[in-house]
Amino acid sequence: MSDLKAMNHDDFRAYLLDRYASLFPPDFEASKAKSFAYQYLPECESGWHPLIDEALQRIDDFLQKEGWLGKAFVRQVKEKFGGLRIYVRPDGDTDWPDHVAEGVGKIRMEIEDRSAHICEICGERGEIVVIDSYHQCLCPEHHKRRLNWVEAGRPDVDWR
Ligand SMILES: [Zn+2]
Repeated sequence: MSDLKAMNHDDFRAYLLDRYASLFPPDFEASKAKSFAYQYLPECESGWHPLIDEALQRIDDFLQKEGWLGKAFVRQVKEKFGGLRIYVRPDGDTDWPDHVAEGVGKIRMEIEDRSAHICEICGERGEIVVIDSYHQCLCPEHHKRRLNWVEAGRPDVDWR
């Protein structure tokens, strides 16, 4: 596996869609027009790429074991209130059994808890800070750089 953190957004997205094809609906590309979440997935910085990879691998394995692979899909992968959120739901109107919902929920919560200590930008140890009422998990270095960036009027920069 190449260095996931070094991948840009589009390459990482292509990697996810290829490696975890069963976790996305067959009409993913067509759904993009309707779904904001699919258009931008994943909506976060590259420091969390390895965590996303691990999460989808575990969800993939779990759904496979339960016979649910291809019947439940990842709907969103994004940063919210400083944490990594991954939403997975059964296809269409189907409901999944409690133990499957709980199993996926356990993985999602563990990943979300860990993301609160991993810098979203570089993947080093970080904590959730609030800058301009926006929550983000950052290491001390990126916290400093974000503050300077806001101060400078948010110029275009490559955060990697
Ligand atoms: Zn950092």
